Amino acid sequence: MAKFIPCSLCDSIVCYPGFYIEVIMKFYAILDVHLLMDHRTSFRDKPTLELMRALFILKLCSYDTFVNHSLQMMTTAEKILGNRLFGLFMRPTFYNQFIAGDDRKSLAVTIGKLTKANIHPMIACMMEEDLTASEQQQEQKYNNNLYRIITCLELLSSMSKQACLQVKVTGIMSPKLVVKICEKITDYETQKKLAILFADALKTGTLKKSSILNTLSDNEYLALERALMRFAQIGTASKIEGVRILIDSEFVSMNHTLNTIAMAMMIAYNNEKALIWCTIQCYLKSALDIITELFNMAKELKVCFGVKIVRGAYMEQERKLAKMNNYPDPINDTYLGTEEMYLRVVDFVLEQIKGSFKCTVVMATHNETAIRVILQKVIDLELDFQSPQINFAQLYGMSEQVTMPLAKSGVTVFKSIPYGTITETLPYLYRRATENRSIIKGARKEREMLWSELKDRMKLKF
Ligand SMILES: Cc1cc2nc3c(=O)[nH]c(=O)nc-3n(C[C@H](O)[C@H](O)[C@H](O)COP(=O)(O)OP(=O)(O)OC[C@H]3O[C@@H](n4cnc5c(N)ncnc54)[C@H](O)[C@@H]3O)c2cc1C
Repeated sequence: MAKFIPCSLCDSIVCYPGFYIEVIMKFYAILDVHLLMDHRTSFRDKPTLELMRALFILKLCSYDTFVNHSLQMMTTAEKILGNRLFGLFMRPTFYNQFIAGDDRKSLAVTIGKLTKANIHPMIACMMEEDLTASEQQQEQKYNNNLYRIITCLELLSSMSKQACLQVKVTGIMSPKLVVKICEKITDYETQKKLAILFADALKTGTLKKSSILNTLSDNEYLALERALMRFAQIGTASKIEGVRILIDSEFVSMNHTLNTIAMAMMIAYNNEKALIWCTIQCYLKSALDIITELFNMAKELKVCFGVKIVRGAYMEQERKLAKMNNYPDPINDTYLGTEEMYLRVVDFVLEQIKGSFKCTVVMATHNETAIRVILQKVIDLELDFQSPQINFAQLYGMSEQVTMPLAKSGVTVFKSIPYGTITETLPYLYRRATENRSIIKGARKEREMLWSELKDRMKLKF
């Protein structure tokens, strides 16, 4: 009852006694995140069979020989056993551990389970991949991928109020064209002009001629226009369905184009809230410069800004490319360098949020230490760590000991979940296993916690 009594000294509405109770409760919720990363908090709601499966698979994935040969082994097994038999083995094991499902029903079950645990879905829709296809077949492939994305957006909107969808630009347009455009984006002004040009095409359906793109052939110009029309359909569907689109980052040779397309979509669709997001890879030496420029552009163009902050998944290939083509390695020299950059970029974004800039961020990391540091920074800046502007994300099937305590403390947290058939997701599973070797190896703590939970359950039973 005393909750609404205004403060007698300053008459402020935030000075009512309930306000202090809220502050104390939030403090304890943060303490939960800091202290309660125990096996009970993380796994108590999981069925025993799921725990056993996770333990088995995470252990198997910790062997380099298995990871290195997994794609080969699985495609051979699929050929020998046939789709049905192979599915009988894959579905209850690897597939169910890491993939959301391949139809409306299985997706709804996965999302239902997550929602019950206060975790939101971030769907990675599987894209058709066929690098040997002819130009005409490629266009067909991009249209098929567009159809999948739109269907996925419709499904998601009926299943979750806070859903997101990850989109890989190279599933929608030719990687060669992406690289060619990227070569033209040499400074802030050029990128801004292109973003405005692309935004105009998204709105009007016609890509006007520009001297910036004068190295593109007529065919390439038309291909770019068709690609922008696909992005327009994605943006419109995202707006209608209320599902956010996160544009993934890929190789350094492509990222300026991806960010420009993301910025164009922000101009077209982010007027009231951040529906379209870009991604920043902090293993890049230039990460802070890139995000500073994109922020300045968003401010200048008066759009809401959404950003996913990751460390980056293509480190080994980037280093090889730099060596092969004799240019400076774009990746930080050491893991610590990347760690430092990650926190600098996050600090920069949080300071912008503090400065009331319309910005939403998702920190996509499995790193517990970094998450603790970030939450402390949120508290130091007196930001609300339960605010919808501040989000975290991890991959489905791993790091439950990170996701669960965050979700239980009321922090907005997502699981990135692939959606597709067994055959479609095999290359994804392999890529993720190799890209995320460090997390899987770091899953030792997760395995220990899984084991402790299983032992506790056995003790209770006997
Ligand atoms: C929801 C979600 C979305 C994602 N989207 C993307 C995306 O769009 N694009 C993308 O590229 N990745 C993406 N990733 C993958 C991400 O970039 C990381 O590869 C992965 O999350 C591991 O980083 P971490 O912070 O979780 O783990 P950590 O184990 O703390 O960090 C591992 C990462 O550190 C970096 N690193 C490791 N060793 C070194 C070294 N010697 N020198 C310099 N850096 C080093 C690498 O980036 C490596 O992946 C996404 C991840 C998630 C969870």
